Amino acid sequence: MRDQYGRELVDLRVSLTDRCNLRCVYCMPAKGIAFRPPAELLQDEEILLLIRIAAELGVRKVRLTGGEPTVRPGIVDLVSGIRAIPGIRDIAITTNGILLEHLAEPLARAGLNRVNISLDTLDPEKFRKITRGGDLQRVLAGIEAASQAGLEPIKLNAVVVRGFNDEDVADLAALTLDRPWEVRFIEAMPFGSVAGFVEKGVVKSEEVRARIEERFGSLEPVDLSGETPARTYRIPGARGEIGFISPVTQPFCSKCGRLRLTADGKLRLCLLRDDEEDLLTPLRRGASYEEMKTIFAAAAYRRPVGHALAERLIPQKRVMIQIGG
Ligand code: SAM
Ligand code: SF4
Repeated sequence: MRDQYGRELVDLRVSLTDRCNLRCVYCMPAKGIAFRPPAELLQDEEILLLIRIAAELGVRKVRLTGGEPTVRPGIVDLVSGIRAIPGIRDIAITTNGILLEHLAEPLARAGLNRVNISLDTLDPEKFRKITRGGDLQRVLAGIEAASQAGLEPIKLNAVVVRGFNDEDVADLAALTLDRPWEVRFIEAMPFGSVAGFVEKGVVKSEEVRARIEERFGSLEPVDLSGETPARTYRIPGARGEIGFISPVTQPFCSKCGRLRLTADGKLRLCLLRDDEEDLLTPLRRGASYEEMKTIFAAAAYRRPVGHALAERLIPQKRVMIQIGG
C-alpha cells in the first residue's frame, strides 16, 4: 500500500484508549478533557478486523498506544489476537510503564516484541510534576520487568520541556553508558489546548545535544540516514544509543509511512494535521469487509505531505492523548 506521494505504508499505530493513569503537561490540559463513553470506542473485535484489513493492504508493524494502552482491560488477549493475524511481523507498545511491572511478562508471552517507555526525568519530584502525580519508582520497576521479559531493545522516550526537565537530559543520556537502551529526546509538538504551553516550553534537539555534549564530549553519529524519525548517536564507549526526534525543527514527512487509528475509530492521516477518515461509523452501519478495505485504502492514499507546523498551523481537533503517539 502506498499513498499518493509513493510512501509505502507498513506501520500502523493503534490507540487502545483515550484515557490515562497519568496527565503529562505536554499531552493534555489539567482540566476540560472529555473522555468518550466506552461504547464510542473501538471494541476488540473491531480493532482486530481493522488490523487484519491493514495487514492485507501491506501493514507489517503494529504499535499499541493511547492514552495509556495498558489501562485497557484485556490487552494481553488483544495482543494474542494481533499475533495471529497473517502478515503482522512486529508488535510494539508505547507505554508510560506504570503498569508494566506485572504486564511485561504476560504481554511478551502473548507475542509482544518491543516496548517504548516514556521517561522524562530520573528525579522523583520532577517526575511527579511533569506527569501531574506519577510515581517514578513504578516506571523504573516497569522498565526492569520489560528487560527481564526480553522486550528488547528498550527505547526510552523523553519529551523535553523548559523549566520541567531540560536540566535532566544528561542524566537520562547517562543511562546508555552501561545499558543497551536507546534514550530518545523528542521535541514537544503543539496541539489544541496545550499549544500555548508547549510553544513556550519547547526545547530544540540541538540544545539538548549541546547539554549532553557538555558532560560527555562529542557524540559519535550512529545513524543519520533519515530512514527513521530518530537521528542516533552514541556517547563514546557507551553500550546504548541516544536518539533525537525533531518534528519541530527537522520534519520527517518525506519518509513517513505511518497510519494512526484513534481509539474512537478514525484513521488519522498525519499526526500533525486534522485530516481523518471515520472508520467506526461505516463499520457499525454494517459495511462489508471488502467495503471497509476500500474505504481504508482510499483514505490512506490521500495522506498529505508536509505537516501543519511548517505552515504555522496547529492541529486543533485533538491533543496527543486523544491521538496516540
Ligand atoms: N501513554 C503512553 C506513553 O506516554 O508512552 C502512550 C501514549 S503517549 C501520547 C505517546 C508518546 O507521545 C509519549 O512518548 C509521549 O511522551 C509523547 N507525547 C505526548 N504529547 C506530546 C507532545 N505534545 N509532543 C511530543 N510528544 C508528545
Ligand atoms: Fe498519559 Fe502518555 Fe499522555 Fe503522559 S504522554 S498523559 S502517560 S498518554
